[in-house]
Amino acid sequence: MTAESFVSHKILVIGGGIGGLAAALALLKRGFDVEVHEQAPELKEVGAGIQISSNGTRVLYALGLEEPLKRVQALPARRVIRHWSTGETWNWFDLGPVTQARYGTPHVMLHRGDLHGVLAEAVRAIEPDAVKLGRRVADVVTVNGHAEARFEDGSAVRADYIVGADGIHSKVRACLFGADRPEFTGAVAWRGLVPMEKLPEHLRQMQGVNWLGPQGHVLHYPVRRGEIMNFISFVERDDWRIESWVTQGTSGELANDYRGWHADVHAIVERIETPYKWAMMVRGPMPRWSRGRVTLLGDACHPTLPFLGQGGVMAIEDGYVLAACLEKHFGDPETAFGRYEELRRERTATVVRKSHENRRSAFSPALADKNAIAVEVAREWQQERVRERMEWLYAYDATAVAI
Ligand SMILES: Cc1cc2nc3c(=O)[nH]c(=O)nc-3n(C[C@H](O)[C@H](O)[C@H](O)COP(=O)(O)OP(=O)(O)OC[C@H]3O[C@@H](n4cnc5c(N)ncnc54)[C@H](O)[C@@H]3O)c2cc1C
Repeated sequence: MTAESFVSHKILVIGGGIGGLAAALALLKRGFDVEVHEQAPELKEVGAGIQISSNGTRVLYALGLEEPLKRVQALPARRVIRHWSTGETWNWFDLGPVTQARYGTPHVMLHRGDLHGVLAEAVRAIEPDAVKLGRRVADVVTVNGHAEARFEDGSAVRADYIVGADGIHSKVRACLFGADRPEFTGAVAWRGLVPMEKLPEHLRQMQGVNWLGPQGHVLHYPVRRGEIMNFISFVERDDWRIESWVTQGTSGELANDYRGWHADVHAIVERIETPYKWAMMVRGPMPRWSRGRVTLLGDACHPTLPFLGQGGVMAIEDGYVLAACLEKHFGDPETAFGRYEELRRERTATVVRKSHENRRSAFSPALADKNAIAVEVAREWQQERVRERMEWLYAYDATAVAI
């Protein structure tokens, strides 16, 4: 084992996903010496879309990313609801300039690879050698007033602090608190991408579409300046238990899950080259995220179902707040991590809980009935109702919380 010498003000981030890179950027901007250790041999993201609501763009803008984001984002004008079998369409809520005016920053839709690329470029612009690849962490410990990460290749690195941003199957979390116990929700998520030019003309729209139906929910929205349509769907199914970004399914299997749904849904499904499937699991909230000089962020400590579109956004907010706490209380891990958890635990737990509640309402069997959907849309999916429900989420300013 080799051990690099201890450098003061050095922070290791384990995991170079969206959360890890956002945290690294926030820490670098505050003058810390940061290394990101990522297990993958190259720095890239999966082919999928991600929505970043105003509370997330607020942080990304504070990190100086407004211009690079504008080069890759899609900025749809609205979200609409559609009926699973008739295709009837209802306006849901305005995005674009309306959201921007209300919250100060926009709600954007991105290819995950583009967001990841923007973050990686910004990190490397400050510290070209910050990201270390092919570095799979095997253990983390706090010893003699410093933190140490040990890697599968037998090497080790010391630092003042370690941040575990290694995702839903976090090794760092397991090292600190033992194995987690995920519970299967009985639902599976599908995802895939279609080049916009391959879609029928009437589906090439700069808007997000949510299809409501019984035992299923379909969502599609444009990403990469509108050049690609991102497809995500959820279906109640009991026969798939693997929670992974890289497990492929087949187009036939995906089409079969939406038998009887409107032709527009199938027009997209049949053009997805490689659909991927993900078994949706839930975990109880963790009472603590930190031990000694090691803490967690993002999916590593509060993985959430995707029914609020907030998992990635929460990871971005976490990174910003954590960097501020470490700057203010650098010499005192207990206070730095204590304050970080105090500021972030309740908000993220609420996201996890409400996403789980939305999973139940998204699959209501009553939605098989056409009239039931119209009633549901009138009651729950009106712009004003949605605003009331989402205000606490979108208006929050992670860049302005008192540390
Ligand atoms: C279908 C679906 C749709 C979603 N849509 C949205 C959305 O619209 N908006 C939104 O905000 N969120 C969304 N999410 C949630 C979002 O994808 C996650 O919350 C987000 O990716 C979490 O980021 P992270 O950096 O914490 O973890 P990850 O993105 O999982 O990154 C973890 C990184 O750590 C690395 N790593 C893992 N283990 C090790 C190790 N031992 N050593 C070193 N490196 C390691 C991994 O290779 C990876 O690069 C969605 C999720 C799903 C499943």
